[in-house]
This record gives sequence, C-alpha cells and structure tokens, in this order.
Amino acid sequence: MSIEVAPWYSHIANFLVTGEVPSEWSAQDKRHFFAKIHAYYWEEPFLFKYCADQIIRKCVPEQEQSGILSHCHDNACGGHFASQKTAMKVIQSGFWWPSLFKDAHSMCKGCDRCQRLGKLTRRNMMPLNPILIVDVFDVWGIDFMGPFPMSFGHSYILVGVDYVSKWVEAIPCRSNDHKVVLKFLKDNIFARFGVPKAIISDGGTHFCNKPFETLLAKWG
Ligand SMILES: [Zn+2]
Repeated sequence: MSIEVAPWYSHIANFLVTGEVPSEWSAQDKRHFFAKIHAYYWEEPFLFKYCADQIIRKCVPEQEQSGILSHCHDNACGGHFASQKTAMKVIQSGFWWPSLFKDAHSMCKGCDRCQRLGKLTRRNMMPLNPILIVDVFDVWGIDFMGPFPMSFGHSYILVGVDYVSKWVEAIPCRSNDHKVVLKFLKDNIFARFGVPKAIISDGGTHFCNKPFETLLAKWG
C-alpha cells in the first residue's frame, strides 16, 4: 500500500486549478496566500514559481528535494560557504522550495567534509586576485547541471553565468552534447550579449571540440 503525501504546495496547486482555498483558513491566512499567489503557475503536474530575479523555477515536492540537494552539494561541498553554495547551485539549476536554504544548511552540518573544511580560517585562504580586468559579459562560465530527474523530457540544464555581473542564463535540455552548447551560445549569449572574450567551463570535452571552434571563429 502506498500513502500519498500532499506536497507543500498542494494548496497553491488546488487554488490555481479550482479557485478555492481551504475553508478553515482565517482572514490572515488568506491575506498571506493571496499576496504571493501571483508568482505561481500550474502546468499539470508541475508548479512553477516566477522568482524575484525573473527566472522561472520548478517547485520541488518533498520526495525530490534530497536528490537535487545532494547532487548540488557534491559540486559545492567543503569550506565555509558550502551551504550557501549548495543552495545557489539548486537555484541556478532552476529549482526552488521554501526550506531550501535551511535544508542546505542541515545537509552541510551533517557532512563530514564540509565540517572539516569549514574550520579553515581567513589565513588559509588563497589570494583571489583577478588576472585580467574584464567587463560585463566578457567572460561566461558555462556548465551542464544534471542529469536530474526528468522534467518534460529534459534531464539537463545548461547554465551560463557572466563572471562580472553574475547574470545567469539557463536552458533545460534533453542531452548534454556540444550541439546544445552551440545553440545555447548562439541564441542565448551571442545574439543577446555579444561575443564574449572567453568562455570558461570546468566541464568536459563538449566545450573544446571542432564545431565550437568554428562557431567562435564565425562570430569572433
Ligand atoms: Zn559537504
């Protein structure tokens, strides 16, 4: 026998579908609810939130949260700011839930490596001098996140971050090959922000192969 547990956003989804709120709610409950409801939209069976940074993120039900969190924690694990870094990875990957920052914090508290590396003091820090002076949209960091649990057949998210402004561009995608990267660069970066001076990726080979060089040559 399986027990269906209603997700944290069930009242939001219910309202968006039926226009009704729970009858036991007080006037104050309703006020709080209606102040925020405009940020959400429902696309059966997913809820999305239009966040303050104008990026739409998928609202994650409880049973999917720990998988996403631990994936993002693996990338951000260690050091003082691991819990913020973990939560930021989740957000940059297009996911959101209300207790995200708290959950990232408790995950890092329970992680050995985070606890050990978190004890480093300022004196242990590497100098962070920039090598070059770069302008906004000169340098983009590009990476795939994923694979994630499938959402509309998309299991990866390609994320581009401008190094100076921290502006984030992201698209969901089905695969993590170079074709996706080329299209992303053309449509989301070059056409809108101009051709950058550099593209940085900690990731794999899809970023340094032949079609990529040809594209850069064409636009650069
Ligand atoms: Zn950790």
